[in-house]
Order: sequence, then C-alpha cells, then structure tokens
Amino acid sequence: MKAGILAELRASDGYVSGQDLCKKFGVSRTAIWKAINQLKQTGYEIEAVQNRGYHIVSTPDILSENELKSIRKTEWLGNTICYEPVMGSTNTKAMQLAEEGAPHGTLVVTDKQECGRGRRGRNWETPPGTGIAMTLLLRPEINPDNASMLTLVAAMAVARGIEDESGLRVGIKWPNDIIVNAKKVSGILTEMSAQTDYVNHIVIGIGINVHTEEFSEELKNIATSIYMELGIKINRAALIERICEYFEAYYDVFLRTEDLSEIAKQYDAYMVNRNQPVRVLDPHDAFEGTARGITNRGELLVDTWETRRLVSSGEVSVRGIYGYL
Ligand code: ATP
Repeated sequence: MKAGILAELRASDGYVSGQDLCKKFGVSRTAIWKAINQLKQTGYEIEAVQNRGYHIVSTPDILSENELKSIRKTEWLGNTICYEPVMGSTNTKAMQLAEEGAPHGTLVVTDKQECGRGRRGRNWETPPGTGIAMTLLLRPEINPDNASMLTLVAAMAVARGIEDESGLRVGIKWPNDIIVNAKKVSGILTEMSAQTDYVNHIVIGIGINVHTEEFSEELKNIATSIYMELGIKINRAALIERICEYFEAYYDVFLRTEDLSEIAKQYDAYMVNRNQPVRVLDPHDAFEGTARGITNRGELLVDTWETRRLVSSGEVSVRGIYGYL
C-alpha cells in the first residue's frame, strides 16, 4: 500500500485527501495515517493539511521496494522486486532466486553490495549509499549462443538511462563498460545457467557509481561517478527506473531477430573506442589494430595491418594502446 500511496501523491499536483486514499486502498483513515507516518520516518517529506489532505514535498534518495514500485512504469521488468539493504552480490542473489523459481523480469537491488564481482572473478567496489547495484533476471527463450549479446543490450540501456537522468555525455567501451570523460562509471556482468540448447536463466548485473566522491588509489585513474562529473547527486531510484524502461525497449528489439541488427548502428554511435587504436588482450593471441564497430552479433571489428578480425567478448579485454581507453 505504501508504494501505492507514494504513487498517488506523486501523481497529484496538489493535495490528496485522506478519504480518497481510504477509498482507493479500502482501509481506514488511521491505516493511511500510519502508513504516511512510516513513509515520513524513512525520509519522505509529506505535508498534512487539515481539510485538504496530503502532499509530497520531497523524496529522499532512497532505494527500497516501495520507492521502486511507486515510480515503476515498465511493463514486465521489475514486476517482482527483491530489495535488501545489504547483499553479497546482486547477481548471486538473483541466481539463487532464479533457482527458487523467481519470474522473468525480477529486479534485484541493494544499497550495499559487499562482494560485487567483475568479469573473471575481478572485484567490483560499491561503497554503501553511493551507488547502484542491481541485477535483472531473465528467462528468455533464445539460443544460448545468442545470450552474450544481452550484455550489449544492457550497455545501451545503461548508457541511455544515465544520459537521460544526468545530462552527461556517455559512451560505451566495448563490450560492457560505460564511460564518462574517459573513465568508467558503470560495469555490467552477465551470467547464465543453460543446457546445450536451452537457457534456464540469465542474470545481468549492473554496477553504477552514482554519488561516489572518491575512489581508492587503484581505481582513481580509471573510475568516475556521476556526482564527480556533474557535481549533483541525482536520484538513484529514478535512474534504475529509466534504465529498466530502456532495457525493456531494447530487449524487445533484440528478441525480434535474436541479434543486434537493429541496435548495432546506435551502439556504434556510443562506442568510445570506435576508430581508435586498440590492443586486444586475448590470452592466446594478443594483437593491435583499429576498432571499427560491432557486427550484428556484437563482435568487435578490428582492422589490423593485414586483415579485418572479429573479436568475441568471452575471454577478451580491449584496451587503448596507451591506457584504459
Ligand atoms: P574488461 O575490459 O575485460 O571488461 P574491466 O577491467 O573493465 O575489463 P570488469 O570485469 O568489467 O573488468 O570490471 C572489474 C574491474 O573494474 C576491476 O578489476 C576494477 O579495475 C574495476 N572496478 C572495480 N570497481 C569499480 C568501480 N566501482 N568503478 C569503476 N571501476 C571499478
């Protein structure tokens, strides 16, 4: 009910009467009053004026199931939300929920991710209250060979979402790093459980540096946050919602063809290392060339002196010749 009350208050320019809320939710005035008080205790500023009703003055930067539900505009993504203030890793939690039967579109969010992971067991840092750690749980009926493209679908959604909510110019470093001013503001980790020809479930973990004010010595040259670039602390729940809206839209486009044929051009326009010299760190065969964009299957096209090569994201990292980009 609290998510519903928040949504009603937000939808109104003026005041919403206690009576209207009672009718809407089929509860007593006291129950409404109690719920409003609980919302106030979690940080919402809600004004109560006699004979007029309730009015929401401001929303704190809260991540909670109620907050996320109250602003939700998506069709299926986030229909089930699992929010806990502290989690080990949102991907691990989503994998567990998937094993227990959680539905397609479940959204997992935490405020404090204690053991965030990057690719190949690397560490992803999320200091509490500063970032977004979220995972989308999907049960797509697709060929498992096509699943890795969903990382690029997610990268587009995150890039567009950050751009809309912050106004910053955002780029993508193939395949899945989101970049602002040549530094990483977000990373994506996709993990899958599948049979040879059947996907059980896929989890797409997204870590975003939102309010971070400083990074460790190790990260400070490659990482940035929205706050560090913008000087303003944007609302994290609104950013999650926007990313989910974009993800839903791009996911539908992806499903039509099970490839990126309708997204590749847009993706290329966001690619920060397009037409740039890159070093492909393939554990078996490292080489240098110029990145040209992606194929319809999300592979990176790299022109070397001799030939054009296709790079799949699996085990490979791409770096600039002189540094991270
Ligand atoms: P690749 O190009 O292979 O994806 P990557 O360095 O981007 O390489 P990821 O697995 O995507 O690797 O992300 C993990 C890496 O991201 C860590 O090794 C660390 O360098 C960096 N990292 C960890 N936490 C953060 C953070 N909060 N913000 C930005 N970068 C981070």
